[in-house]
Amino acid sequence: MKVVLFGPPGVGKGSQARFLSDREGAVHISTGVLLRRAIRSGTELGQKAQSYVESGKLVPGVLVRALAEDAIRATNFKGFVLDGYPRTIEQAEWLDEFLQEEGTQLDTVLSLEVPADVIIDRLSKRRVDKETGENYHLDFKPPPADIPADRIIQRKDDMPDAILHRLEIYDKETHPVQDWYRQRGMLQEIDGRGSFEEVYGRIVNAIPTSRSAS
Ligand code: AMP
Repeated sequence: MKVVLFGPPGVGKGSQARFLSDREGAVHISTGVLLRRAIRSGTELGQKAQSYVESGKLVPGVLVRALAEDAIRATNFKGFVLDGYPRTIEQAEWLDEFLQEEGTQLDTVLSLEVPADVIIDRLSKRRVDKETGENYHLDFKPPPADIPADRIIQRKDDMPDAILHRLEIYDKETHPVQDWYRQRGMLQEIDGRGSFEEVYGRIVNAIPTSRSAS
């Protein structure tokens, strides 16, 4: 399968993409994860991207393009779930050209849809174990009692002002990508409300099985 999982921050696309790739044997490609890894390793790209990632701004497209294309190429185009790329129309055009040049195309683009108030609730109640990176949610997946309280932190970009800023960037820069795919008949909107399993079931049902094997 060659799929893009699309949606605003906090919609749950990262967890769904990871689960989907484990179950279906496709490679999960998250440009956010790749960028954070490059920053931790101190590569030239990581140094250039750091201030953007930490302030919740979009990293200049040329930096992300190479990262995404290398990761896709490394799958031999057998199967991938893209998470966080493309995020602008320019990136969608690059991805389209890149796949065409390689003689392949996306099966589908799945857009997870959740009302803004639910997103704000999810992000503001997200907590992270700073040692393992594991995500928790104060209501649905509370941090286990045996983890010391000072290890459980709230990400700076999950504070109320930062959440609003990220959602604004999403509306302005990333939301138009939906229309770009819709006009090309590639977009499917998926209801992102409900339990993880319910949403996962909708995602799997929306992936064209006849093409998912190629
Ligand atoms: P994410 O983990 O997907 O929320 O991404 C974290 C951060 O990485 C974003 O806030 C951006 O700063 C950067 N980033 C990830 N993917 C992209 C992309 N496709 N284009 C530009 N910046 C990106």
